[in-house]
Amino acid sequence: MILSPAAAHPSAAGFVDQTADMTSDITNTRIAFLGLGIMGSGMAGRLLDAGARLTVYNRSPERTAPLAARGAAVAASPREAVAESDIVFSMVADDAASHAVWDGGSGALAGLRPGTVLVECSTVTPGRISDLAESATRIGCELVDAPVTGSKVQAAKGELLFLVGASEQSLGRLRPALEAMGKSIVHLGPVGSGALVKLINNFLAGVQAASLAEAIALIERSSLDRALTVGAIVNGSPGSPVMKTLASRILADDFSPNFYLHLLAKDLGYAIGEGESRGVPMSMASAALGLLQSSIARGDGDKDMAAVVEQFRAGAVVR
Ligand code: NAP
Repeated sequence: MILSPAAAHPSAAGFVDQTADMTSDITNTRIAFLGLGIMGSGMAGRLLDAGARLTVYNRSPERTAPLAARGAAVAASPREAVAESDIVFSMVADDAASHAVWDGGSGALAGLRPGTVLVECSTVTPGRISDLAESATRIGCELVDAPVTGSKVQAAKGELLFLVGASEQSLGRLRPALEAMGKSIVHLGPVGSGALVKLINNFLAGVQAASLAEAIALIERSSLDRALTVGAIVNGSPGSPVMKTLASRILADDFSPNFYLHLLAKDLGYAIGEGESRGVPMSMASAALGLLQSSIARGDGDKDMAAVVEQFRAGAVVR
């Protein structure tokens, strides 16, 4: 059973968001959103802000409450959520979670109308995308893979970057909704391209996170002034955006999750699989994954990825 919106729909209430002016009109688009974790809750909120007619589903139902209070309808299953949708977004943890929301008797594929555009935004393997695309085609629908870069803050502000694998036609239908959630849309090629590029992206982010953790561990075990030294390094040539963000979290000892460490380990594992299937050894990814697995083994998997440094800290003296 779909629960009616607890509040008037934002567009019906005359709600005006500054960013809505910058996007194409999606007020008559019926959108289902599956998965309201750190990323999905922010993204679905942006769709509501833009005036979409939104139905949400999350495995743990309590996470639907903030969006229901803002006007979203709540469904008890993915199948129920998509019954009247023009577009369906999924933003869940991994391949297994993607399988859980799309497939099976209560999965979204069982409830779709032909012609619906399916969008897998989760970071999953190209193999998962390929299977899902085949299933979509069988029921007269088309799949787009549109994983994102950016994190919790960018999701909430509508500032994500979408890495898209799609036909021109499907992307065209989708563009206004993506514009409500992101500041950039990069069309990389046919279906599956976005998933592969996202894994390459996170391979590079993961290697940098692991390298930064070792660098800071080394600084913390020396007589150097930590803040001064880390600042000099990340504001110099090695200082990428991800290095800068993680360094500031590490210096502040703030490991509240923006991106769960265990999800970064998942992405490195997927990237290693992709490399191996193409004859690339991915030795850097394997080394970084080893550090992340040590973090998970000591109980840091549900912290932010910056917590990879924690494993080195026993006995260190910070100056
Ligand atoms: P999250 O907060 O852990 O949310 C995960 C979502 O997946 C939740 O809605 C969770 O439901 C659902 N889920 C997990 N296993 C499931 C299953 N077996 N069946 C049904 N639903 C399941 O993670 P997130 O940070 O939002 O990340 C979502 C995706 O975006 C991941 O693929 C991640 O790699 C990617 N991503 C994350 C970031 C970031 O910075 N956070 C950035 C870019 C991409 P419950 O609430 O019931 O657990």
